[in-house]
Amino acid sequence: MAAPPSISTDVLIVGAGPTGLYGAYYAGFRGLSTVVVDVLPALGGQVTALYPEKEIRDVAAIPAIRGRDFVSALEAQAAAFDPTYLLGRQAVRLTHSDGEPVVTLDDGTVVRARAVVLTAGIGTPTPRPLPCGDEWAGTALSYFVVDPAVHTDRDVVIVGGGDSALDWADALGSIARSVTLVHRRAAFRGHAATLARVRAGSTSIHVDTEVVRLDGDLESGTLAKVTLRGRNGDETVVAADHVIAALGFISDLGPLRDWGLELKGRSVTVDRSMRTNLPRVYAAGDLTGYDGKVKLMSVGFGEVATAMNHVAVDLDPDLTLFPGHSTDGV
Ligand SMILES: Cc1cc2nc3c(=O)[nH]c(=O)nc-3n(C[C@H](O)[C@H](O)[C@H](O)COP(=O)(O)OP(=O)(O)OC[C@H]3O[C@@H](n4cnc5c(N)ncnc54)[C@H](O)[C@@H]3O)c2cc1C
Repeated sequence: MAAPPSISTDVLIVGAGPTGLYGAYYAGFRGLSTVVVDVLPALGGQVTALYPEKEIRDVAAIPAIRGRDFVSALEAQAAAFDPTYLLGRQAVRLTHSDGEPVVTLDDGTVVRARAVVLTAGIGTPTPRPLPCGDEWAGTALSYFVVDPAVHTDRDVVIVGGGDSALDWADALGSIARSVTLVHRRAAFRGHAATLARVRAGSTSIHVDTEVVRLDGDLESGTLAKVTLRGRNGDETVVAADHVIAALGFISDLGPLRDWGLELKGRSVTVDRSMRTNLPRVYAAGDLTGYDGKVKLMSVGFGEVATAMNHVAVDLDPDLTLFPGHSTDGV
């Protein structure tokens, strides 16, 4: 049997949310090679999974930016240092070899790192499943939109009543051939302004309604139609190339709970250098907890910069903690 793939890097970042992406930039700025792993198939953590179309207004120097564009900007900033992204893979096991961390991913890949920075946020997000049609997952059924453009000129059914469902109906309304929005309750929970835009557009809205069947050629993954059933039992069949189930996520630290980290609830305890209780393992962003912690992206960016500066000195004691100014072109 072939040995599992093995990768070596200076820093392994677990979590490609905003904190992890800025960490990838910062590690490069400090001259460190970086691998970033995320269980989601796309970069951006909560921003991509929960609010890609919303405007973020509280990040320094950016008056307002759409979530999706913000993630692209973080990716572009990190790209200067060419991090390796391993997406769709979960970090499941941590051991140490000669004092250095070794992390195993759920596909068997072994990542040998000189330091690990955990930026796992609120943990692994598991989408709430659609009650039917699971056999279409990964082909004509998805749980979030990685790239809206793939739905151009297609018939799309969006299921859900919260912000994500409304945001995607809003975003796809102008590019898809048709958008059908299905919600099992009468009232939507998302932002009133987004709902008003969706109502004003061409989206066909079905409330008090559930998706009961997906039909098409399962082998090729080509969906043809979706059957909806209203509370009164009436069925409606709509043309569909793709179903997006925006029913929310349940997040859990999952395997990280077994790594021996000092935890308080869902938060990892860190010191002022962002060190955890484990050797060469740091944490930053929504994952960390301490008295007075504020879970915001601005705070995560500061924490991960602190973590990477300490990692740099831990790995090379001849370096100074202060990195110099980026304006010096370092
Ligand atoms: C609707 C909404 C609106 C918000 N608006 C704002 C706002 O305006 N301003 C603001 O500052 N904050 C806002 N936030 C909060 C902000 O999104 C979070 O503070 C931020 O996403 C935290 O970033 P993070 O990178 O630390 O964690 P996350 O974004 O949670 O990313 C963590 C990543 O780690 C991955 N992961 C976890 N465990 C593993 C594992 N074992 N293996 C591999 N990958 C793993 C997850 O899949 C995830 O992608 C908002 C949050 C929500 C829900």
